[in-house]
Amino acid sequence: MSEFVLSRSVEALQPSGIRRFFNLAAGMEGVISLGVGEPDFVTPWHVREACIQSLEKGFTAYTANAGLPALRKEITKYLNNRFSVSYNPETEVVVTVGASQAIDIAFRAILNPGDEVIVIEPSFVSYAPVVELAGGVAVRVQALGENEFKVTPEQLEEAITERTKAILLCTPNNPTGTMLNKQELEAIAVLVKKHHLIVVADEIYAELSYDEEYHSFANIEGMYEHTVLISGFSKGFAMTGWRLGFVAAPAYFIEPMLKIHQYTLMCAPTMSQYAALEALQTGNRDVIEMKKSYHKRRNFIVSSLNSIGMECHLPGGAFYAFPSIKSTGMTSEQFAERLLMEQKVAVVPGGVFGESGEGYIRCSYATSMNQLIEAMKRIEAFVHQHCK
Ligand code: PMP
Repeated sequence: MSEFVLSRSVEALQPSGIRRFFNLAAGMEGVISLGVGEPDFVTPWHVREACIQSLEKGFTAYTANAGLPALRKEITKYLNNRFSVSYNPETEVVVTVGASQAIDIAFRAILNPGDEVIVIEPSFVSYAPVVELAGGVAVRVQALGENEFKVTPEQLEEAITERTKAILLCTPNNPTGTMLNKQELEAIAVLVKKHHLIVVADEIYAELSYDEEYHSFANIEGMYEHTVLISGFSKGFAMTGWRLGFVAAPAYFIEPMLKIHQYTLMCAPTMSQYAALEALQTGNRDVIEMKKSYHKRRNFIVSSLNSIGMECHLPGGAFYAFPSIKSTGMTSEQFAERLLMEQKVAVVPGGVFGESGEGYIRCSYATSMNQLIEAMKRIEAFVHQHCK
């Protein structure tokens, strides 16, 4: 304890439940991890090479605050080609330090103290803390397992008050893998229009959709004006460590975000920007290959879990399966802890992602097929031993 009074808003934050779990798994031998939320692929060689070449050429200085003009142009081209959304590279894009920084500056730019943001749980663990650090109030709405973790418009409408400023929408979702289709997005758009809301759309998993075509929220009719589109290179392009993402939005959102970005970060790392440029220009084939591999693994893990008796909906995207553990009678925390100790398989307890995640676990299938096969054997043994 120090004699200093530090930030009360930081003190009020709960530490992430995921961390505690990883600390447990670290140091144990022979653990198969279905815990981490990142690709098992190494960034393709030509992307790494583009970075090396940029260093060889001596491109080691800051870039423009918003990012390399060529990269911003390529991002807008990519968004247009892939998702039919069009942005001006000069005024409507900022290259950020991961999607994480984009989410942070989005909320700092749009919230005034006490403004409410609807966070749909189960959700990525950073959302509510980031909203709260920006002075907002996170209003949690529970997407339910019975509904394949799809939030309903009725649930959203019920949560909207005159203080509601924004909805944070993540599809495909971490941790459930649930992806909303066009009709479902359109139903949300009706509410957004009616209540004049902003949507912060975390589309970081947009490249990883398996059954249906992906629809960006910004592409839903009338939603461009309401949407702050956030994405990045970590997931689809297997570039987590490069710390590179971006935000695209109408200039009235981008201007204040850029102000925060230039005072706090200056610019995203230059060498990573050169790598990202290469990834967008020639990396489409890599993305398709990696996606094919995740798709195969998704089908395997979901059918295995269901045949073990752990009910699991077919997640439309990302690389997470979110099966029920209710037949064991354990809490998700007990399940994950005992599975780790007894069978050496690391998963994440669903409860850390919010109330409606309790009774479930998150299994990341961004790991090799051999590891997945072995993990499923171990989980089966565990469940059969403990099933009531
Ligand atoms: N949003 C979601 C839903 C995520 O799962 C993650 C990473 N786990 C991020 C954002 C952050 O991604 P980045 O590496 O681009 O900061």
